[in-house]
Amino acid sequence: MTEFYSPGGELPHIRDDLTIPQFMFDFTHPSRPVVSPSAPVLVEDATGKALDLNQVRERTFGLANALRHKYGIDRDDVVVVFSPNHVDYPISIWAIHQTGGIFSGANPSYTSSELEYQLEVTRAKLIICDPTSLDTTLKAAKARNIPVDRIVVFDTPSTGSGYTTVSQLVDEGLRLSKQGKRFEELKLKPGEAKTKLAFLSFSSGTTGRPKAVAIPHYSVIINVVQCAVHNKVNEDYTSWNERRYRPGDVGLGALPFYHIYGLVVNLHVTMYSGLSLVVIPKFDFVGFLKSIVRHKISHLFLVPPHAVLLCKHPAMKDYDIRKYVRMIVLGAAPLSEEINYQLFKVFPDAHIGQAYGMTETCTAVTIYPLKTKRGASGSSGHLLPGVVAKVVKPDGTMAGYGEEGELYAKSPSNAIGYSNNKQATEETFIDGWVRTGDSVVIREDNEVFIVDRLKEILKVRGFQVAPAELEGCLLDHPDVSDSCVVGIEDEFSGELPLAFVVITAEAKKRIAGSKVMELGLKESIMQHVAKNKINYKHLKGGVEIIEVIPKNPSGKLLRRVLRDEAKAVAKKR
Ligand code: AMP
Repeated sequence: MTEFYSPGGELPHIRDDLTIPQFMFDFTHPSRPVVSPSAPVLVEDATGKALDLNQVRERTFGLANALRHKYGIDRDDVVVVFSPNHVDYPISIWAIHQTGGIFSGANPSYTSSELEYQLEVTRAKLIICDPTSLDTTLKAAKARNIPVDRIVVFDTPSTGSGYTTVSQLVDEGLRLSKQGKRFEELKLKPGEAKTKLAFLSFSSGTTGRPKAVAIPHYSVIINVVQCAVHNKVNEDYTSWNERRYRPGDVGLGALPFYHIYGLVVNLHVTMYSGLSLVVIPKFDFVGFLKSIVRHKISHLFLVPPHAVLLCKHPAMKDYDIRKYVRMIVLGAAPLSEEINYQLFKVFPDAHIGQAYGMTETCTAVTIYPLKTKRGASGSSGHLLPGVVAKVVKPDGTMAGYGEEGELYAKSPSNAIGYSNNKQATEETFIDGWVRTGDSVVIREDNEVFIVDRLKEILKVRGFQVAPAELEGCLLDHPDVSDSCVVGIEDEFSGELPLAFVVITAEAKKRIAGSKVMELGLKESIMQHVAKNKINYKHLKGGVEIIEVIPKNPSGKLLRRVLRDEAKAVAKKR
């Protein structure tokens, strides 16, 4: 056995000349349930205001028409969306696609230098942001020479900044259309959906700084179908009550749309499957419980820290969400067996399980099988239809069932590579396979267990943290001469960044063995990172001063040694 195949059935042929909005708005397929055009598609959490499919289509068209006529957005122009979730967020994505443009989502809490990096790598032409992020946007845009009039804001209660809003653009686009000024929607030739880019999503891959993953329209479309077909296949032997998705079900849209899991699984898969999606801008646990009750949310798409809260937060006793929740999917980071087990106890009747995937495989590669209703504890489920896996042992030979090794995934949804980065592309995208950097075991019953992470990245609350990025930032601190960042285990966040640093001779002299001075220096190093980086990258795992960063004779950092050291540090604390 050298290759593993999906036990989830065949993947049907899907047209490769569709854009994502054509697929989402007009595509009919046996795997897609029939949904009434007046059923709510996107629901605003706070107000309950809902948009049905016709309204979503019209708003998307209006916005696209304005993006073309007012800003000239055309084929392959990149628009960065820098905002929390908003009902107009998906509409903006599809409008960008209709013009031929490429969407790139940025975390709305980024500092201006982090946003600037994304604007630079993507060569963005326009920014759509949340009004509360205007200061950061303006600073980053200025640094990239993006004129102020190419910043658009979402309509929120705090809008009033004088900047053009998305709603104003929708109205303008619709008015222009009535006057006969209609843009020509992007149409693709057969096969072209596999190369025409739709998203530039950021991921560090196996090493280095975050890179723009080049994701074509087809990757998203086929991954949605892979998830849906997996469901459909299982319908043959499940009753209506046991199906994973049913039209009329209500999904929680709290995962950020700028991350691939929120974007593809939470947004596109649910909409394709006929769910209404309650769009939640900011996660706070009690608010989340209230939203579930208010909207009778049945389907939760979560990351492991959410599961910890569901198992341990005292507010759980005040809200009877069990009667609404039918399904909980967890992904983006490892879920501990203990929390997995506790979650089963909290929701005895719900479908619960993990999915596994990555930005580079756009998106899900595995999901727990529907027929078992509950994923096996600790397992990430079965390979999705169309996915082939191989597991490479450290000695380069292929692992069989039950043997550990690095997972390589070949999925029709795999991205094309990293934009403008040939070397990184060649290291990760190899002859159709994505090298995942994750160590796995595939059992004979086809359950896939993610047992370790071989690559550098940390996953803090499901977010990627690239050590190389933090190590670069640490070198800008005047007292640091070398550093290595690794993860230290944390029950809630999964892991937290811990920096091992070598300090300069001058700093050493200054400290002169004083514990107080040493604490002060560590604090200043943590502050330095906190000032320059988004919250989840802060050194909440601490700073450890060491004499030398272990390296091999050719100068390559021996991260493993310090990962082991971090375990020892954790034990001592
Ligand atoms: P991202 O590209 O940000 O989605 O990160 C992908 C990485 O997240 C994977 O390569 C894994 O290391 C990790 N990951 C995603 N899903 C899971 C899961 N179910 N269990 C363990 N790790 C996961």
